[in-house]
Amino acid sequence: MQKKLCPICHREVYWLVHHLHNVTDQFALEEVKNDFMGWTEDDGLCLPCLERYRAHNSMRCFDIKVTMN
Ligand SMILES: [Zn+2]
Repeated sequence: MQKKLCPICHREVYWLVHHLHNVTDQFALEEVKNDFMGWTEDDGLCLPCLERYRAHNSMRCFDIKVTMN
């Protein structure tokens, strides 16, 4: 299986995530786009990168909850 280069972390991975449809991932996508100008969903990203942005977003949701309390 041919390895691909993740455009976010520049590591070689076996597969990239391209199509993200759930709401959490939509927020993650916006974060990636903020950090990497010109990046689109079609460029894809590796799973560790996606997990990192997902975690980032859930942390932010937690912060908002704390602020509202
Ligand atoms: Zn990556």
